[in-house]
Amino acid sequence: MFTATERSAIVDVPVVFGGTFDPIHRGHIRAAKTVSRLLGDVPVQMMLAGYPRLRDNSPESIAHRWHMLRLACADERNLIPNASETCGERATQTIETIQKLGGVADRPVIWALGDDAAANMPRWIQFETIREKASILVLNRTKACLAPVRQAFELVKHPTDLARKAGRMFVIEEPGLDVSATTIRNEIRKEKKSVESWLHPDVLSYIIDMHLYRT
Ligand code: ATP
Repeated sequence: MFTATERSAIVDVPVVFGGTFDPIHRGHIRAAKTVSRLLGDVPVQMMLAGYPRLRDNSPESIAHRWHMLRLACADERNLIPNASETCGERATQTIETIQKLGGVADRPVIWALGDDAAANMPRWIQFETIREKASILVLNRTKACLAPVRQAFELVKHPTDLARKAGRMFVIEEPGLDVSATTIRNEIRKEKKSVESWLHPDVLSYIIDMHLYRT
């Protein structure tokens, strides 16, 4: 339960769950819904990274990933697909998105991400500025080492504390679904059926119809 003060603190703070979503899977959806619930049933911007900077291989086209993201979120009241990071022609920079969303020290953007992504954060462009304008909500996923991020962010006890000040961090201990887009792409390439349980049925149909991830 949330007090009125907690709810008003969180209400107009942008909450973002970013990803390549190549393809969007049930692990992403469950994680984003957990974030929404923990913050008091708030909307979560599902921010599609156009050209991810820290990925070795090229993702599927933006048009396909965007279409799948919209299909997967269609039944989810609080998950809002957002394509604003796909407009430019160069690699995505999180700091630019945080600035566009108006993140400042006492009204930060809350950026939700898996522990694998959080462990990489010190490599993100303008990491220091990100800390001044955003707080982070980290999902337990791979048991990645979070020591460097823990040093940079102040750990808080309640997720709603993230809304009051930038540079804070809350770790969700409940485990996420054991699935990744890499595994799904590999399984599709090998024509395995097991991907069905990890994908929204409309996303699965789209992948089949468009012959995605076959090569
Ligand atoms: P890939 O295997 O291609 O790296 P991915 O499944 O990790 O993809 P991304 O789009 O790269 O998906 O991830 C977007 C965000 O979702 C990241 O913060 C990532 O840590 C998080 N995430 C991905 N899968 C899960 C999951 N199963 N549970 C919780 N968070 C997840």
